[in-house]
Order: sequence, then structure tokens, then C-alpha cells
Amino acid sequence: MRTEVRVEGIVQGVGFRPFVHGLATRLGLAGLVGNDAGGVFIEVEGDGAAVERFMSGLRTPPPLAVIERIVARSLPPRSGTGFAIVGSDSTGERRTLVSFDSATCDDCLRELRDPADRRHGYPFINCTNCGPRFTIVTDVPYDRPNTTMSGFEMCADCAAEYLDPADRRFHAQPVCCPACGPGLVLRGRDGGVLPGEPIVAARGLLEQGKILAVKGLGGYHLAATARDDRAVAALRSRKHREDKPFAVMAPDIETARLLGEMDEAEEAQLSGAGRPIVLVRRQAEAPLAPAVAPGNRSIGLMLPYTPLHDLLVGEPLVLTSGNVSDEPIAYRDDDAFARLGEIADAFLTHDRPIHVRTDDSVTRVFRGRALPVRRSRGYVPRPVPLSTGGRPVLACGAELKNTFCLAKDGRAFVSHHIGDLENYETLRAYREGIEHFGRLFDITPSVIAHDLHPEYLSTKYALDQDLPLVGVQHHHAHIASCMVDNGRTEPVIGVAFDGTGYGLDGTLWGGEFLIADLEGFERAGHLQPVPLPGGTMAIREPWRMATAYGVPADLAVARRNSASWEAVAAMGRSGVNAPPTSSMGRLFDAVAAVLGVRDRVNYEGQAAIELEQRADPHELGAYPISLGPDDPGAAGTPFVVPGAELVRAVVADVRAGTAVPVIAARFHNAVAALVVAGAVRLRETTGLTTVALSGGVFQNLLLLERTVAGLEAEAFEVLTHHQVPPNDGGISLGQAAVASARS
Ligand code: ZN
Ligand code: ZN
Ligand code: FE
Repeated sequence: MRTEVRVEGIVQGVGFRPFVHGLATRLGLAGLVGNDAGGVFIEVEGDGAAVERFMSGLRTPPPLAVIERIVARSLPPRSGTGFAIVGSDSTGERRTLVSFDSATCDDCLRELRDPADRRHGYPFINCTNCGPRFTIVTDVPYDRPNTTMSGFEMCADCAAEYLDPADRRFHAQPVCCPACGPGLVLRGRDGGVLPGEPIVAARGLLEQGKILAVKGLGGYHLAATARDDRAVAALRSRKHREDKPFAVMAPDIETARLLGEMDEAEEAQLSGAGRPIVLVRRQAEAPLAPAVAPGNRSIGLMLPYTPLHDLLVGEPLVLTSGNVSDEPIAYRDDDAFARLGEIADAFLTHDRPIHVRTDDSVTRVFRGRALPVRRSRGYVPRPVPLSTGGRPVLACGAELKNTFCLAKDGRAFVSHHIGDLENYETLRAYREGIEHFGRLFDITPSVIAHDLHPEYLSTKYALDQDLPLVGVQHHHAHIASCMVDNGRTEPVIGVAFDGTGYGLDGTLWGGEFLIADLEGFERAGHLQPVPLPGGTMAIREPWRMATAYGVPADLAVARRNSASWEAVAAMGRSGVNAPPTSSMGRLFDAVAAVLGVRDRVNYEGQAAIELEQRADPHELGAYPISLGPDDPGAAGTPFVVPGAELVRAVVADVRAGTAVPVIAARFHNAVAALVVAGAVRLRETTGLTTVALSGGVFQNLLLLERTVAGLEAEAFEVLTHHQVPPNDGGISLGQAAVASARS
């Protein structure tokens, strides 16, 4: 029998054709395989049983392939012989999917360490199963001329591997070797080449306590030996980074275990092909300089994901983004030298350009599955399935932790982490990124989704385009993203807790209960609004929220801030420069300040993160909560949760001399109970039994665990995030889902 097969998904540049060739040849089948604009096309001919085994064998493709669809139809027999790989057909209207960058595979690692191999010790070794992809692709179709490897001409040995269907490097676009590929160089601050073999010399500098800029996959990192407090502290001060924790790269999983407490699922995330930074509990005896993560009980760990890292990292290194303060990371060589010259003592760099700046991804693990905090390198541009509508949509995302999303034909391409849209550089990356994605995935949007906040630069971008617009309320977008993340479309009870989002009434929302589906929502409950004294000042200074929540002036938090306590309290009461907010993030801030955990923050979410870490996980008590008056008025009126009652309970416990970890835990438990109570009430009125949890507050694992456990005890089905972050990095996906559901 003869069968034609089409395979769609991430099937190009991932060793799919050699895999098909091998499979068919082993089964004694005749036919051909090739790439076209839609994916891979195959013809196989032979006896029926062999063709069947071929079809089932297709289901276990090479590691980087992601099969979205296989379509087969029978053809009249032709009695062909032999199996051929045919050339690419780059015409046609649809384009195939570019793969994500992937950690070095075991085969390449073995060659890297084999003195007899011609790529022994070569920092750019890769194959069809691993290596750079998204970060080096400049255009489609995915072929070498359309990557940043275009300037390197393959030597005869590499070309032979590239052209041999039986070789692991068959059509591996970035294939290269020391004879023909990029080369490593160690330069001083002034750009001059330093003597010695670059890796050996670089390791020597690190051992001496020097700071090294290292060109990685998606940008430059700054590296220092993680146990060297002087080096790490110098890095911190030169980078103007006060106390946001640094990530640490361990050479291998055994060493990583000495630094962080990990369960099996966390180790699986750490060593997966995406190689994210995994946030785990720090080992008490971890050999880490205090300056790595001051006052922090968790640690961000990662493992080497390029051969360069494998060669460089002999002992744990701090590996933090190559930037000053909150600027975007440097990824172009000249820019890196200009911007990092004051920080780095030397530059370990190379001549393979990075096309798209891509930050490290960050994840936590909740109940054995990833809970993404930042989804970028190693994950992007893998699409998220979207079951609603095929119309091409651009979703512009939020302001902080921005991503955008382009969607069409049931696939949503959420961008790499762009960052906070507040300077020219990120805005340029944003505009260029949108164009690049549009080209790569052949999506010309016919509708644009945006946040309702008029001041977001992403909103302004949307309004500048001459296309139909769909405004999506921020918390609706959070809940929609959580639904899509779980493949859901039916209505849910949505609980969206975050720092800030623009509400339908023009006030700042953030502690929201919604009844939502992808098309729309109803605000069904929320925290009682309180003033945000001084606007954004109150976000940087959590103690201000203590005044907003009516904390008495004789408490320690008031004494610590006595110089402005009364004035700020009065500002709140007057409402001048103190807009009302129902933000759950700000309630966490108020409690963190009252407990003396943090009065001022140096990065977003710091107070809540530290409050979570201080909480005693064994404490099961909770403060009483209420959903406000039993009769909230007319049906359909949202219930209003008095957050001030919680703060009063915290204050009473402080006066009673209760330990901070106990109070912090009781507060977390009370917020979880609040979610459960709200969900129960909404189930009574709507009959809905599924709850979606989203918003940055749900990056808090203690809160998430207590909330999910409480909801499950009440027989709810609970949706949490697995593919995109619950924070504003997931907003663009939600916007895209809402816009495509509405059109
Ligand atoms: Zn490989
Ligand atoms: Zn070569
Ligand atoms: Fe948000």
C-alpha cells in the first residue's frame, strides 16, 4: 500500500526528516520525505503492516519536534523503490514553526568531552537535537542563510554531515566546527584580546574574583564565582542592584543539590531542554556568598544550557543578566562593551550574532508541574493552542513584564519577555519583535487587542495602528490566559489577584472575583477599595499602605516612618493624589510593613515575596474573614471584602506579641479562605464549579497551595498556570483569546 502523510507542528530544523528516513528504511518502505511551507510531507509504500508500524512510529519523534497534527490518505500504489529525502519547497502560503533554543543534548556533550572528536572542547557544538534556534533565526524559511550562521561557510566535513540523511547533523542549520564556525575570544574592557586559551583564561579570572561578561544564547550575562562574597558584592554594587536575588548556574545536578532543596519535579524542570532558572528553597549550608541573595530563603538555580557554559562553569557561578539596574540585557557586542564596560573586568565573547534578545526563563514548581514566572529563552516561540477563532490577532500585552502575542489558526505565539515598557530600548525591542513574529509565523493581524489602561505604552501602540481594536480589561485577560493555559472555554469563577490593573470604572483593580468566559466577564466581588497614598510612591513604599489600611500611629511601622506618617495618612483620607484601589498586592504590602518585613521595596513584589518566605508553613490558623454584608443589595451587585478587618486582626496579633512567621502564615491562610468563601458564594448564585486562579499574587506558592487545597476540599475544580505566567507576562495570551473569541 502507498500512503501520503502530512505532519504539522515544530517539525523543521529538529531532525525530523532523518528520523522519518531512518524509520522508513528500517521498515523496508519506499517513498520520500520533504519540507514544505506547511510542515513535512511524506510518502511511504510497502506492505500494510509495515506502513501501520511506520504511522505509529511517527508518534515518537526526535526530542525537539512537537507534532500538532498528522493527516494521512491512501494513494494508488506505484511500486517505487528506495527512500529519499527531497529538497525544501519554500513556496506556499503557510509557514512551519521555528523551534525554541534547546540545551546541549547528551550526544553533543559526549563529543564535547571526547579528546578524539573533532569538536572536542568546541563551545559551539550542536546538532539537529539541540542548540540555538529562535535566537539566531532572522527570517523564514528556517534555513542557514536565514540565521546568524549565514556568515560562516561550512567546511567539507561539516557539509558532509549536513548533507547525510543518516547523520545526526543532517540539515542542522547551525552546524559548525572549530575549522569553520564561530570562535571564542576573551577581551579586556578596552576590547583588546587577552592572552591564553579563552576558556582557561576566563576561568582563571573568575577564580581571582573578577567579574566576567559572557555572551550566551539570548544575551550577555555577568558572571562571578558564587562563593566569593567580595566578587558578588562588587557585581551587585556595579550593577546597582540592591537586593534582588542573583541566579546561580551549577555545573551539574549533583552540585545543584548542594545549593537548593529540590524534589523530583524541580530537578526535572532544572534539567529539562528549556533549562529555566528554577526557584527553590536554598540549602541552609549552601556554599554561597551572602551577597548572592541577601535575606532570601530561596535561590534561583540553573544548569548549563550551551556548550560554552559546560566548558566555563566548573563551580557554581552567579550568572545574572548583562545590564545595569532594570535596563534590558545587552545582546549586541558593541552595546555590551559600551554598557557593561564599567561592570565587567573582561568579556568572554564570540562572533555568532544574537538576533533576538531573549532573557532566561524563570519557573517555580507547584504540585509537580511548572508554574512559570518568566517564559522566554528555551520556551519561545512554542505556540499555545487556542481553540477559538482563526482570525489573525495581535495582542499588545501589559506594561510591566510585557509580552505580546500573535495568534492565528488556533495557535497563539506568545513572545519572549520584552520587559517593562518604559524606555526607548524596550519599546524598540517591542516594535521589532512584533514585526519579526509577524514574518516568522506569517501573521498579519486583522484585529488588535489591548489593555484598557490609557497610559500603557502597549495601549498607545495599539491605538496608533490603523486596525479594529478590542479593549480587554486587565483581570479578564488574566483569567482568560489561565483558561487558555488549561485548554478551557466554558465559564469559570475567576479569581485575579495582582498589584494593579485598570478597571472598567477607571479605578485601580487588583483583588477581583469574576464570572468569566473568553468573551466577557462580570465583576462579582472585590476587595474594598482603599486609597493608594501618593500613587506609584505607595507601590515603592509599602508602609504607606499601612496608613491606607488605618493602622494606628503607635505601631512600630508608624514609628519607623514617623516623619511622614501623618501627612501620608491625611493624603489617603483626602483622596488627593491617592486613587482608590482594590489591589490584593497592596494588602500584602500593608501586612508586610506592619510586620516589619519591608517598608520600602527595590523591585516589584518584593514585600509579598519576603512575607511568603517569612511565613511558618506549619501554622494552620487563620484570621476570620468575611465577604462583607450578607445582603449586598440588588442581585448582581458584587460582594465587597473588607480587607481592613484582616489588617486589624494582624495588628491585634502584633500587639499580643505573636511571632511574625505565625502572623504571616495566618494572613496567607486567611486570604486563601477568602478565595474559598468567595468561590462558594458564587457557586451558589451561578452553579459554576471551576475556579481559575491568576494574577501575580498567585506566584506565591504558600498562598497557592492553601487556596487550591481549600477549593478542592469544597469540591471545586481548580485551574492554575502551567504554560504562561500568572503575572502580567501572561496578559497578552489572555487578550488574544478574548479578541479571537469575540470576533
Ligand atoms: Zn546535539
Ligand atoms: Zn566545519
Ligand atoms: Fe496584572
